[in-house]
Amino acid sequence: MPPLRKPELLHLFEEALRASSLSFLKLSGGGDHPATYQILGQNESFRLRVYIWNLTFGGRVSLPDEWRIQVTGLPEFDGHQRFIRETGGKTAILGWCADLGVYAAYDIGYHLDPLGGSPSIQIRQPALESARLNGLAHHFRGAEEVAFAVRPSYMGVYLANMEELHACGSSEEALRLLEQISADPDSVAEAEIEERAPAPRKYAVISARKALREADFRGRVLTAYSNSCAMCGVQLRLLDAAHILPAAHPDSTDETRNGIALCASHHRAFDRGLVTFDSGFHIHRNEEMERELVRSGLDGGIDDFRNSLFPMIEVPPNRSDRPAEGFIQQVNEMRGWRF
Ligand SMILES: [Zn+2]
Repeated sequence: MPPLRKPELLHLFEEALRASSLSFLKLSGGGDHPATYQILGQNESFRLRVYIWNLTFGGRVSLPDEWRIQVTGLPEFDGHQRFIRETGGKTAILGWCADLGVYAAYDIGYHLDPLGGSPSIQIRQPALESARLNGLAHHFRGAEEVAFAVRPSYMGVYLANMEELHACGSSEEALRLLEQISADPDSVAEAEIEERAPAPRKYAVISARKALREADFRGRVLTAYSNSCAMCGVQLRLLDAAHILPAAHPDSTDETRNGIALCASHHRAFDRGLVTFDSGFHIHRNEEMERELVRSGLDGGIDDFRNSLFPMIEVPPNRSDRPAEGFIQQVNEMRGWRF
């Protein structure tokens, strides 16, 4: 595939941010490289500097499965190119592999020295392939440095946890746990992490597990619902994977059948008990609450909200992905719905 130009690479990177449900503001100009963003997640906001190149295949005969970014075009100091950290923010060094549809992500902490002639940074193909399957995979580069391969919809997970993830390079056991968690986030219990991970890396592995579980749930639910709101059919880029029985409830799980894809306004309305659905998948509105909203003058857009609702939720074609009766009944009981 022909290499992409910087604006195309950054456009793809922005698509990855959206695919991992992050909002952002681009702070740098159209043709600037590195680019700067303000990233706005659900729980955090940070400034991000992004260096990005195409990953190209091959190079050394001894390592036939190697991909690399060729670092070019950086500002020079004393005749040497240098990476510069974003002050008070995060810095990502990325390579885009068009063939496999994944990114390589490198730890800037290991690349702050002046760069030599024709500098490149490598990653091995098995890591890229594994990220294509599991979302995130690591490649140990030696001397505690770890590079990650990241599927676009996992970019948010990587960016939010990049410091903790790269820090796992100092512990083989932490890396083994990460690998296991990436393949199946539910295969490792938190207690097992407490037991196996060395003390300074426990937090890193636990927060990575939490983020990977969320990304996994979101991916399964949105795919099951073909990326459209089950209550109104809208296909927005920022669609939520909502828990039917809220995650804070002791009986809540991350099974797909405890999830439903909802647009932001139907997600809020569902969580607040303004709208729900029964085990026959019929949608019910809380008319008493609607009247109250109208009385208190908070009825802006309520007609749109009503008119956009389907009579029944649109369920996934695969039966085992559909909302389970137990979760539906529990949440409706909890919120005092009577049908
Ligand atoms: Zn909706």
